[in-house]
Amino acid sequence: MQQQDIYIGFPPLPDKQAIVEALLNDPPEVRWRMVRRLFQIRDIGDREELIQILQPHLKAADNWRLRYRLHLGLQALHRPLNIHDYRLVKGKGASRLSNSEYMEEESSLPLNPPFFPIVDFHIHPKTPDLKFFVDMHEAGVTHGVILATDTDPEDVERPDVREQIKTAFDRSHSSVRMSFDSLLRHIQKSLYSPTHVTNQDVADWVKDYPDILTGFGSVDLCKDRTYVRQKLDEIERLKLKGLKFLPHSQFFNPAENENMPMVFEYCEQTSAIILSHSGCGPGSFEIIELSHNSHPCLWEPWLKKYPQVPLVLAHAGAYSTEIPGIWLFDALQLGKTYSNVYIDLAAVDWLLDREMVIQEIRKTIGFDRVLFATDYPLPLSAGVSWACVVKRIQANRNLTAKEKHKILGRNAARLLGL
Ligand SMILES: [Zn+2]
Repeated sequence: MQQQDIYIGFPPLPDKQAIVEALLNDPPEVRWRMVRRLFQIRDIGDREELIQILQPHLKAADNWRLRYRLHLGLQALHRPLNIHDYRLVKGKGASRLSNSEYMEEESSLPLNPPFFPIVDFHIHPKTPDLKFFVDMHEAGVTHGVILATDTDPEDVERPDVREQIKTAFDRSHSSVRMSFDSLLRHIQKSLYSPTHVTNQDVADWVKDYPDILTGFGSVDLCKDRTYVRQKLDEIERLKLKGLKFLPHSQFFNPAENENMPMVFEYCEQTSAIILSHSGCGPGSFEIIELSHNSHPCLWEPWLKKYPQVPLVLAHAGAYSTEIPGIWLFDALQLGKTYSNVYIDLAAVDWLLDREMVIQEIRKTIGFDRVLFATDYPLPLSAGVSWACVVKRIQANRNLTAKEKHKILGRNAARLLGL
């Protein structure tokens, strides 16, 4: 099979049989590995033949992860992505086609770009490579932290997790206008693959673009010790540099979870960084009571005990559509007390438009521990480009040039050892 000629440096495409086998028999939790290659197939005839072969397997698939992978594969075959004027170079990302050689564009870049590096600390790798790297190129983002998300719809079926959700739900106003069963259905649906990116997925991306991407793994901490140990071993083997947690949708209270000593000891030994969602979650987790596990203060006992382990509070404790900024001040106070606390600005970069918030950051954690982040591809769903989020910070009138440099890249470069 022929590869589209905008893909440079990638190994030749496997034959159809190998593609079908990998899609069907890759370990069921591996999602993107082969789907990403499908975007590279050039001929419409080859695509159609694969669609014919795969369609019946989708109907027969009984594992939700397999079903989701086949679904993504078929989507990629039906709608091959081609972005005008761009090509994708393995290891280097996207560059404009109008230059005859990739290197030419590199040498035509300004010698001292106004902001360098620009590191996005919070990215979900769910978009095809070409789209991802074209957006990154246009935004001027030089490095990115990509995150796994180990959530499991089956957690909701466990009696202890159900009980936990029920207690929180009964305390909320939403319980008068919505039944518990329909809430559970909503939650369960949100835990299927749209949010799920595996550790192996992340490692595969990093392997293809090692100079650009840093990978964080994820482990669902409401599971038992054996599961958590296995995942930590996997994350270490895959050489991922940090751990991403979602306490609200992984159903654990950080202050009380019995796996936590193992997690922090792992981080201490391997110099791994923790990045945890803080603030409300999306969808059903906008109900504040259901997101209480993502309150920043629940990390306090571990911050005290393990001062060497960096904890990044994603969304600065501020994400919530009902009460924007919800636990921001708790997060900042925590950061004032513990020097291992960082905040990322994913989905809450509007905070920097508020003079009062800037003052509060200067008074509490300062700008050495604030990290630029977008939650990409989330801004796209609101019609906002990656470039737009970067430009907003560059044009910010409340921040000094030095603070902008720190936020956009220097803090992250220091933390990640880039
Ligand atoms: Zn996120």
